[in-house]
Amino acid sequence: MLRLALALLALLALPPLILLFEARRQRARVELGFWAFAQRVGGRVQVAWRQARRGIVTLELPHGAARVRVERGWRGWRVEARVYQQRDFGFVALIAEPPQRPTLWYAPSLEIVEVFPEEAGYPGDVSLESNDEASLRWLLKHEAISALLKAARAEGYAVEICAAHSLIIARASQAKAPNAGAAIEALGPPLLDALKRLSADLYDLAEAARDAGVIFDEAACLACGRPLDDDPWICDGCGARLHRGCREMISGCAQPSCARAADALTGP
Ligand SMILES: [Zn+2]
Ligand SMILES: [Zn+2]
Repeated sequence: MLRLALALLALLALPPLILLFEARRQRARVELGFWAFAQRVGGRVQVAWRQARRGIVTLELPHGAARVRVERGWRGWRVEARVYQQRDFGFVALIAEPPQRPTLWYAPSLEIVEVFPEEAGYPGDVSLESNDEASLRWLLKHEAISALLKAARAEGYAVEICAAHSLIIARASQAKAPNAGAAIEALGPPLLDALKRLSADLYDLAEAARDAGVIFDEAACLACGRPLDDDPWICDGCGARLHRGCREMISGCAQPSCARAADALTGP
C-alpha cells in the first residue's frame, strides 16, 4: 500500500519537475546566446540575470556607448541596439523596412520623405520620416544603412533605424528565432556593425557642424534638438526635458545614465 502511494506521488511530482528542468535548460540556452554575442563583439553582459531577468550587452565605442538588448515584440523577438553619442548631431531620421505607419506626431516637424525608384540611392520599399530631409538622404546613401537593409531582405527580418539627435537606435525582429539568446546572436552583429559605422560618421558630422559654427540649443529637446513646447515631459529620474512625443519615440529618457532610459543599467 505504501509502495503504491509512493509510486503515485512520484508520478504526480514528475511533470512539474520536468517543467522546472526544461525551464532551467531553456534559460541556460538564452544566457549562453547573450554571452556568445558579448564575446563576439568584445562587449560585456551588464545586467545580472537573477536581478532583472534580462541581459544588456554593453560596449564602449570610440564616439559613444552602445547597448544591445532583447524584447518580446509582436513580430517575435526584437533585438534593439542603441548608441548614446558623445556629440549631438541635430536631426531626427526614421527608416523602416517593411514600411511602417507614420509616426509624425512624435518629434516636432517630422515629415514623411519620399524617395522614388528613379532617384539615386533609392532604398526600396521603406518608410521614411525626418525633420531634416537632407540629413535623411545623406543617411540613406550611407553604406551601413544599405548593408543593413540588404541583410534584412535577404534574411527575412524587419528592421528600423532611428537617429534621434543624441542617440542612434537600430532594431530588428525575427519571427523564427526560438529564444532571446538566439535572437541576439543572429541579429545583434549586423545591428551593431551598422551602428558602429553610423556612430563614427555622425560624430564627424557633429564635429563638422561645430567647426562651421552651428551651435545646438542646450535647452532643446534631447531627442530631436528642437526647442521645447510649454508642456514638455520632465524626467523624474534625471530632470531632462523632452517633447512628450519624443519620449515616446525613444521609449524613455535620452540620458544613458538615467534609470528611465529604455535600456537603463540600473532600476528606477
Ligand atoms: Zn523633441
Ligand atoms: Zn532621465
